[in-house]
Amino acid sequence: MSPCLAKVLSSQQCGQVDDSYNPDMTSIYAKRRAALAAQLGAGGVAIIPTAPERSRNRDADFPYRHDSYFYYLTGFTEPNACLVLAANGHSSLFCQPKDVEREIWDGIRLGPQAAPSALGVNSAHSIGELDKELPKLLENQTSVWFPFATHDGLSAQVEGWLNQVRGRARMGVSCPATQQDVCSLLDEMRLVKDATEQDTMRRAARISAGAHVRAMQLSARMLRQGQAVHEFHLEAELLHEFRLHGAQFPAYTSIVAAGANACVLHYRADTAPVRDGELVLIDAGCELDGYASDITRTFPANGRFGGPQRALYDIVLAAQIAAADATQPGARFNDPHEAAVKVLSQGLLDTGLLSHDKHGLLDDVLEKKAYFPFYMHRTSHWLGMDVHDCGSYIEPGEATSAPAKADPVTGAMVQPRPSRVLREGMVLTLEPGLYVRPADGVPEAFWNIGIRIEDDAIVTANGCELISRGVPVDPDEIEALMRG
Ligand code: MG
Ligand code: MG
Repeated sequence: MSPCLAKVLSSQQCGQVDDSYNPDMTSIYAKRRAALAAQLGAGGVAIIPTAPERSRNRDADFPYRHDSYFYYLTGFTEPNACLVLAANGHSSLFCQPKDVEREIWDGIRLGPQAAPSALGVNSAHSIGELDKELPKLLENQTSVWFPFATHDGLSAQVEGWLNQVRGRARMGVSCPATQQDVCSLLDEMRLVKDATEQDTMRRAARISAGAHVRAMQLSARMLRQGQAVHEFHLEAELLHEFRLHGAQFPAYTSIVAAGANACVLHYRADTAPVRDGELVLIDAGCELDGYASDITRTFPANGRFGGPQRALYDIVLAAQIAAADATQPGARFNDPHEAAVKVLSQGLLDTGLLSHDKHGLLDDVLEKKAYFPFYMHRTSHWLGMDVHDCGSYIEPGEATSAPAKADPVTGAMVQPRPSRVLREGMVLTLEPGLYVRPADGVPEAFWNIGIRIEDDAIVTANGCELISRGVPVDPDEIEALMRG
């Protein structure tokens, strides 16, 4: 930059500060850092970088999304940053320095000077000083914690810092002797959502529910008016509603699947026509302030369920209600799945999709997983900052003496392990489905029907709260909504 331009820019920009950080939140992040620090053990140091920026093509980047662990501890959304936390609670943030020219192109940076008061960290440095400062912060410490296998090159970087500390051994400096995965601590912390997190997730779910309502209504309205409807028209409604209400991103790529496309589990919204008489499956949710929502609804494109569509829809809805009834503190993570699978399997027998002659009674269907061709995924996953959120699905420290069993579908030997005990504040999805592909022995009336119903559940003191029911699941209510 020419000295002249630098002078012009600095006169315009140097006084600009980033005041977008909410002071009410700093104590929450500080509390989380203190809780993590308390688990590092004497002499432990944790290093948690944010996510890198990623190029999409040539000069265009993907929209930047921070790392969830880093955000959980800082609330800081700029790229090129790293948090270092010591067991005594001291926190150091490394972030982009103020740079007048770069800020004109990329936006205002918080900068190390303002970071301690904006974010509540104890000290802050330019990210350019990371390699110089880290060895000092690791001197005479016992262990270094960092996220394993999540950041390219980080473990090599840590080795480099440790080598520099070792190089000073003859001066009496000791080097951390152990390396540990900080995710093992943070995953457990993130699994139970505090009141602030739950509130954000409720708001995210409300926005997403409104987006589903909007897409349903557009589908029926356009068909009534004789217009050609495509999947992308409905996706556009979702994206519009997300941004209209301040959500930053879709939490994942939206699935808008018309007709037979609903039987492709990871179908993306594309160009296929949405036809009168078909069902549409939409699996979409926004991300709001770093938290995901994840909703699926299946509805008739024209607003009126056909007979076989309604028959399968009622089974999936009954399965979801059974799953919700099984979601309560003290129950196991697998309980909602098992409750759903039971209802789905009975429904498959009742409708003739599974024949009694071939598959026997309900217990036989469950034992042999005969439902699998029609329901091949799990009923739940954790939900939080990541749509498939972190947290072990196995109850920690609980041993099993059950013998390994052959899986009836894959034949692989599986060691049954007790699944996680649900606790108040955990958040999971409940998303049973049925997917019927054309096949011999499958009644033709059900061919190409794919149905999934997915809601987001917070485990409460007595059961669970379904936070995404701002869009109806009852088929009569869906039809009424689409007439309106
Ligand atoms: Mg989903
Ligand atoms: Mg899901």
